Amino acid sequence: MPKSFTAKSSVTRKVPRLSVRKGDRVEVIAGKEKGKKGKILFALPKENRVVVEGINMVKRHARPTQKIPQGGIQEREAPIHASNVQVVCPSCGQATRVGHRVTESGTKVRVCRKCQGDIDKA
Ligand SMILES: [Zn+2]
Repeated sequence: MPKSFTAKSSVTRKVPRLSVRKGDRVEVIAGKEKGKKGKILFALPKENRVVVEGINMVKRHARPTQKIPQGGIQEREAPIHASNVQVVCPSCGQATRVGHRVTESGTKVRVCRKCQGDIDKA
């Protein structure tokens, strides 16, 4: 079967927009590490996943490389689904859903749905 482009594929967003970004402090709201907090090391918008510092550690059996000359078992973070984390609001300290607001200068910032405080610096 040749690969054809259907109407459905043209309306699907290729890259979903995440409500969390690299550098955000987030709380895990689902899964075995529920309740833990950490900083987003990097985001994978294409997969709708994020890598959070200290969350979802997995053991990797690595061959010695130039970067890791000793090889062996390495512990590192594995990506988790972005829907399993929520941004921790810097104003009220709670994990929250995010809303958006346009500032007077025209910049779009994310706001906390709980206290309405800005999450991003304008
Ligand atoms: Zn808040």
